[in-house]
Amino acid sequence: MLKLAVFGNPIAHSKSPQIHQLFAEQIQQQISYEPILAPLDDFVGSVTEFFQEGRGANVTVPFKEQAFAWANELTPRAQRAKAVNTLIKQVDGAILGDNTDGVGLVNDLLNQTVVLRGKKILILGAGGAVRGILQPLLAQQPQELCIANRTVEKAEQLCTEFVDLGPVVACGYDWIETPVDIIINGTSASLHGELPPIAPSLIKAGHTLCYDMMYSKQPTAFNRWATEHGAGQTLDGLGMLVEQAAEAFYLWTGVRPDSQAVLASMRASLS
Ligand code: NDP
Repeated sequence: MLKLAVFGNPIAHSKSPQIHQLFAEQIQQQISYEPILAPLDDFVGSVTEFFQEGRGANVTVPFKEQAFAWANELTPRAQRAKAVNTLIKQVDGAILGDNTDGVGLVNDLLNQTVVLRGKKILILGAGGAVRGILQPLLAQQPQELCIANRTVEKAEQLCTEFVDLGPVVACGYDWIETPVDIIINGTSASLHGELPPIAPSLIKAGHTLCYDMMYSKQPTAFNRWATEHGAGQTLDGLGMLVEQAAEAFYLWTGVRPDSQAVLASMRASLS
């Protein structure tokens, strides 16, 4: 029995237990994957106790930075993200911290046969989620990554930290008006049914792909806006969620699950 868990606060809403159970069934692996509500002031105590016997864990809001600080070793992508969403107990007992969010986004896009190489990509937001996606996106060699954020200084800070990996520039929402190939909404605005202040002229009708990292049963506010303005395609973040989980499952078991089958099942069960 492989002992796994996800730590968060709140955690009851998490879809990770369902996703990992479906992966495990595919390969007939016995797992226990428990949602753990860690106290806000004692993530370290909670995760330390779990890893007495646990083999691996996911970490979600608000503990990704604490997991980054707690892990004994870090992968290069976790070091860049300064946040950890996956913990792996190694044979010598040391805990390795990784960040699979970015590769989850990129794999989801590649699964939809989206080409990133040579494309002009606009990213909205400069919070934790955007920090996690920059390295994997830049590895796809886009023509340019432009980060627009309400607080421009945060976008500028990210550019300073990632510019050695590729062409990334910061901008304010009102600085850009000409169409781009891909817009990725990495703000939390959709959580509140709101829209970042973006110009419709950023969409080239029938061409621009709009991706909201949030997901819901009904199209998100951002994806509704994109459709109204003629976007070529809209996608939401459910695929990213399943793909980041698939990467974590691979790190724990050495087996890549059939993520597309699980995505279809999760899509059908969204409420
Ligand atoms: P953070 O709180 O770290 O960052 C929030 C960002 O959104 C900031 O850049 C903030 O701007 C911006 N923002 C918030 N409200 C508005 C608004 N009304 N208009 C414009 N900008 C706004 O959040 P995260 O980075 O952790 O998460 C962002 C989103 O990504 C969430 O929707 C989350 O659900 C999603 N996500 C999805 C994942 C998946 O697997 N599908 C994985 C991880 C995250 P400012 O800096 O100016 O405050």
